Amino acid sequence: MSVHRSAVCRGPYGGDDDRADGTDCSDPAVFEVARQGRPPLRVCPVHLGPSLLLASRVLWPPEIILIGRP
Ligand SMILES: [Zn+2]
Repeated sequence: MSVHRSAVCRGPYGGDDDRADGTDCSDPAVFEVARQGRPPLRVCPVHLGPSLLLASRVLWPPEIILIGRP
């Protein structure tokens, strides 16, 4: 868990790793949302809900992993 502690939220649109667009949030990521054919999307608690609906290729039903403390 401590490995991911400095991870930053990429929500709610889930900018890809080669492209930092898609987010204006700088909060620490707390959850990781699984996606199809893409790296998991790390998001803060505020953007967890929106990212499930707005980010591309999110699995449904969602698979969410807790990676940090709120
Ligand atoms: Zn966020």
